[in-house]
Amino acid sequence: MKKILILGGTTEARQLAGKLVEDFLVTLSLAGRTESPVAQGVPVRSGGFGGADGLAAYLKETRTDLLIDATHPYAARISANAAQASRLTGVPILALRRPGWKPVDGDRWTQVDTTGDAVHALGSPPRRAFLALGRQEVAAFEAAPQHHYLVRSVDPVEPKLAVPDATYLLARGPFREADERALLEEHRIDVVVSKNSGGEATYGKIAAARALGIEVVMVRRPILPEVPSAETVEALAAMIDHGLDPVAERGV
Ligand code: NAP
Repeated sequence: MKKILILGGTTEARQLAGKLVEDFLVTLSLAGRTESPVAQGVPVRSGGFGGADGLAAYLKETRTDLLIDATHPYAARISANAAQASRLTGVPILALRRPGWKPVDGDRWTQVDTTGDAVHALGSPPRRAFLALGRQEVAAFEAAPQHHYLVRSVDPVEPKLAVPDATYLLARGPFREADERALLEEHRIDVVVSKNSGGEATYGKIAAARALGIEVVMVRRPILPEVPSAETVEALAAMIDHGLDPVAERGV
């Protein structure tokens, strides 16, 4: 049976692993940041590889036939490492690239390049901001302590932000639009700061902000390496069905 390593951490990676496990020896790799990740249903390894070279060594040691980058669209370093490790080893790579959201009528988006730019985009006068960001990114908002922050994360933000007025929520998506709308109203939020994650699971806050006429400061996606890719689990699985030829050609 051919061996596939899926770099995961997303819902789609888990779904893809569940689909491929019937025909391949699948290992799912997680960054290991979430304290209690949801059950993945396939063999999992956790933690960094030690850069592109470390990943290349892992691919060789495990005699992996195909590498799939199904990481989060903002996890740019592991995607770059994956492309590089594929070049170093000749192990073919495919990527699952979830399309980003596009603004529609009624959206009030301010698009910025980095989390630091998002802090500036809030402006000087105090506002009530909902930070729907990873716990690694929210520290940047200590630079603007005049705002009230509602911070939602999967694991607790530790240490807490050095700002006088912040509320913390622990929750894991998916989030429904109606619930997000109730949350924004309850906390009298006037600006949402978000990554352009794409997909349905976290779109509720964007739709809710639109319905309430609330501004969204949207951090643009990082640039990812160009590798053969598909936008959905089904499309990627079909690519593998039709195209594990690169592996067959290598005679493994
Ligand atoms: P990153 O900056 O691309 O990765 C940093 C390092 O973490 C990598 O160089 C690698 O370490 C390790 N790593 C990342 N993903 C891995 C995986 N699937 N398996 C094994 N090692 C992995 O990514 P990040 O620090 O995780 O996150 C960057 C952004 O993505 C943040 O905005 C975060 O909120 C968002 N995000 C990430 C995930 C995720 O599962 N990674 C999920 C949701 C959101 P080595 O170089 O040592 O191999």
